Amino acid sequence: MQHNSIAIADKIPIAVSARHCHLSEEDFHYLFGTQAVLTKWKDLSQPDQFAAEQVITIQGPRACIDKVRILGPFREQTQVEVSQTDAVKLGVMPPIRMSGNVQDSAPITLIGPQGTIQKQQGLIIAQAHIHMSETDAQALCVKDQEIVKVEIINDVRQLQIMNVVVRVSPDFVLEMHVDTDEANAASIVSNQYGKLIKME
Ligand SMILES: [Zn+2]
Repeated sequence: MQHNSIAIADKIPIAVSARHCHLSEEDFHYLFGTQAVLTKWKDLSQPDQFAAEQVITIQGPRACIDKVRILGPFREQTQVEVSQTDAVKLGVMPPIRMSGNVQDSAPITLIGPQGTIQKQQGLIIAQAHIHMSETDAQALCVKDQEIVKVEIINDVRQLQIMNVVVRVSPDFVLEMHVDTDEANAASIVSNQYGKLIKME
């Protein structure tokens, strides 16, 4: 068992999350019209999660960013996830948070083809995290919400990402999610792996 856990700790697949938004059903209809339907463009690696065909524009005090992809399905609360580079361009200072925690996050304006919404909160920079099943968590000797670090394995840059949150759920597929700033800093390309290291 010990041997097994060392083997998979070296092989955490890494996926890069570009800027995107999760919308409440109400906000989606406000932006796209009451008759609009959120349509799937392609499946994401986590079960039931998909990238939609629809995109919106997000606006901050300094600039707009267009073609921001909507990810489905709908959520209870609208949440926009950007990189720190995006935040500087927009002219806002969103907190680095776990996805789903939007309380007192940064304001952002959403612009769709049929409407505009000024959200008082909802903009975050997503904290790097690893999705995994209970079986993976046991093999890796970690638990839900545990903070670990991940060494990026490539020949280009020797980088460790600290404060990575473990997220365990029965239907999660083993995968680390980083944003585009983290990916660029570590020269991460597709089909790359990281090594999970437990913190003391
Ligand atoms: Zn994720």
